[in-house]
Amino acid sequence: MAPAMASVLSFLGATGTVTGSRFLLDTPSARVLVDCGMFQGLKHLRDRNWAPFPVEPRSIDAVVLTHAHLDHSGYLPALVRDGFDGPILATPQTAELAAIVMADSGHLQEEDADYANRKGFSKHHPARALYTEKDAHRAAECFRHVPFNALVETADGVTVILRPAGHILGSSTATLAIAGRVNRTLFASGDLGRVNHPILRPPAPPPEADVMLVESTYGDRTHESVEEAEERLAAVISRTAARGGTVVIPSFAVDRTEVILLALGRMVAESRIPSLPVYADSPMALEVLRVYRRAIASGDPEIRPECITGKDLFDPGSLHELRTPEQSRELNDLEYPSIIISASGMATGGRVLHHLLRCLPDNRCAVVLPGYQAAGTRGRLLADGARTIKMLGRYVPVHAEIVVVDAFSVHADGNEIVEWLRRGPKAPDTAFVIHGEPQAGTVLSKRLEAELGWHAVVPRPGERVRLD
Ligand SMILES: [Zn+2]
Repeated sequence: MAPAMASVLSFLGATGTVTGSRFLLDTPSARVLVDCGMFQGLKHLRDRNWAPFPVEPRSIDAVVLTHAHLDHSGYLPALVRDGFDGPILATPQTAELAAIVMADSGHLQEEDADYANRKGFSKHHPARALYTEKDAHRAAECFRHVPFNALVETADGVTVILRPAGHILGSSTATLAIAGRVNRTLFASGDLGRVNHPILRPPAPPPEADVMLVESTYGDRTHESVEEAEERLAAVISRTAARGGTVVIPSFAVDRTEVILLALGRMVAESRIPSLPVYADSPMALEVLRVYRRAIASGDPEIRPECITGKDLFDPGSLHELRTPEQSRELNDLEYPSIIISASGMATGGRVLHHLLRCLPDNRCAVVLPGYQAAGTRGRLLADGARTIKMLGRYVPVHAEIVVVDAFSVHADGNEIVEWLRRGPKAPDTAFVIHGEPQAGTVLSKRLEAELGWHAVVPRPGERVRLD
C-alpha cells in the first residue's frame, strides 16, 4: 500500500469491550501493531476472530506485545500463519509466558473442534480450529526480546520503550516515539496492575506522551480491600468444607493462580481456613507456575523483595499438581472437601468445565470467581445469578454457592488508574479510554476530564485518528 502521509492510529479491538486488544499505528514509514489479542465473550465479538484481519498481515512491520494474556496475544498465531513475518517485540518474560498461552490456546481450539465434530453439536460443519498448536509454536519463534526500560527500534522511524506494568510477570506499558514531520509519542497502558500486587512490584509511573491509550477494565468500579476479599474467601472455603463440598475456582492460568495459591497459603498459616487438599488442575497454569517460581528464585527485579525468601510461596501445604487428563478425571471421584483451581478463568473452556459440570448441581459445593468475567461468558452468567448454564452440550442446574471475589483481580480499579495517571509529568493532548465495556470507559473518561483536567475520548470500534 502507499505510505500514509500522516501518522494514523486505528482502533481494531478492545474498543467498547475488554478483549481483542489491537491498535494499529501507521506512520509515513512504518506500520506497527500494538497487541494482537483474541476476542472473547459475546458471540458477535468471538465471531470477529474469524473475520480476515483488517489489514494484510504481511504489511505489518512489527508487533509490540504488552503482556501474555490471551486477549492481548491470542491472535498472534493466526497473524503469523496469514503472512506476518516481522518481529514480535516483548519482554523475555512475556515472550516465554505468551508461548505457553498461545500453545495452550491452539491445543484447546483443536480439541474443541474435534469434540464438537465427534458429538455433532457445532453449528459449523465441520467445526475447525481458529489456529493450531503448531501455528502457535511458529508465532513463538517470532519473538524478539526487549528488556525493560531499553529504547529499541521497532520499525523504520518508530522506537519503543517497555516499562513494568505490575499486572502479570513480564507485563509492560509501551511508549512509542514516532519520527515524522512532527515527532509524536504514543503511550499504551497495556493492562495496568495494582500497587499492592502481592508478588510484583508496582507499575512504573507513566511517562510523558502526546497521546495515551488508557485501559478501563474496572474503570467504573472500586475493588474491595484485599482484607475484606480474603475474609469472604476464607468464609466460603470454611462453609463449604463444613458441609463436605468442593470449592471450584476457575482461574486465569497466568498470575491469578499464583495470587490465589499465595492467599490460600497465608490463610492456612493463620488458621483462617482448614488445611484442605488443593488441586491445581491445568497444565498451562503449572507451566506458568514454573516460570514464576524461577523468576522468584533468580531474584527477577519485577518481584517484590519480600517474596524472595527461598521458600515455595505457592504451596499452601497440600498442593497437588495435576498434569495428565487421567489425574484430572480422578478428581471426579473425590468425596471429601477440597479446593480445585482450574482454567479457563471465565469458564469458557478447559478442564474447569468438567469440574463445574459435577459441582454446579451440588448444593454442598461452591464456585469462587476471582477475576474479571467478560459479558457473554459462563463466568459472567454465574456471577449474574444464572440458575442454569449450558456447557458441553447440555443444560446444568446451578445449586452450588457462587461467590465473586473481584479483589483478586490484577487490574487497577478506577481510583488506582486515576491516581497512577496523576503521577505522570504532563497531560497528554488526548487520552483514549479503551479496554473496557461501554459503561466503564465512559465513567473513567469523565473522571479523567473532571479530576485531571484531561481531554479524554472513548473511541468507536474501527475508528481511525490522526496523531499529528
Ligand atoms: Zn491482562
